[in-house]
Amino acid sequence: MRLVLVGPPGAGKGTQAGMIAEKLNVPAIATGDIFRANVAGETELGLEAKRYMDAGDLVPDEVTNKMVADRLNEADAQEGFLLDGYPRNTGQAQFLDETLGSHGIDVALELRVPDEEVVRRLSGRRTSTVTGKVYHVEFNPPPEDEREHVKQRDDDHPEAIQNRLKVFHDQTAPILDYYSQQGKLQGVDAVGELDSVTKRIMKALKLD
Ligand code: ADP
Ligand code: AMP
Repeated sequence: MRLVLVGPPGAGKGTQAGMIAEKLNVPAIATGDIFRANVAGETELGLEAKRYMDAGDLVPDEVTNKMVADRLNEADAQEGFLLDGYPRNTGQAQFLDETLGSHGIDVALELRVPDEEVVRRLSGRRTSTVTGKVYHVEFNPPPEDEREHVKQRDDDHPEAIQNRLKVFHDQTAPILDYYSQQGKLQGVDAVGELDSVTKRIMKALKLD
């Protein structure tokens, strides 16, 4: 299964990706995580990406597309994959189709969340520096042994959140039409308890 997760920042893509990928037995590949690992490792790619990420802008396509093509060439992605946070504009969606050849992806799963819920989720998001797990101060608080290790992401401040929402509506939302025209779009209401959302996703993917 070649699956892409599409949704605004804070839709719960990262939160749900691990469970879906495990069920499908494919790697979960999150472009944001790869960029953040490069920023932390102070690589050339990380230094280039950081200024875009901090502002909430997209990293330029030529950088992002090459990084994804390299990752999809790795052995574990040959039988399928779950992409979280890529593609994020129609140019990237076209590049992905060209990279994959004949039949492209199988499903684009849209996680639907209104903007005001996005703001609530991103303002309270915390990530463990030890396990990388994603929590929320109110909706999914970290367990006691994680509490001293969680930190807020550099781009989860109000200006970057507003810009990321704008970027989503202006640049990413058009890929929903792109996949809909290919007959590959599945939409899920991603508001509600984490477990309820997981169940809706599994049902949409016929994995329940
Ligand atoms: P994305 O990867 O789409 O940007 P995340 O998975 O990082 O989103 O989730 C963003 C924030 O919202 C996190 O703090 C997460 O704990 C929280 N969250 C995820 N799903 C839900 C949900 N169904 N209800 C409430 N909060 C959620
Ligand atoms: P995310 O972790 O998915 O919220 O991504 C964090 C940031 O990484 C984004 O705001 C962008 O700056 C960058 N990024 C992640 N994926 C992409 C992509 N597909 N294209 C361009 N930039 C990306």
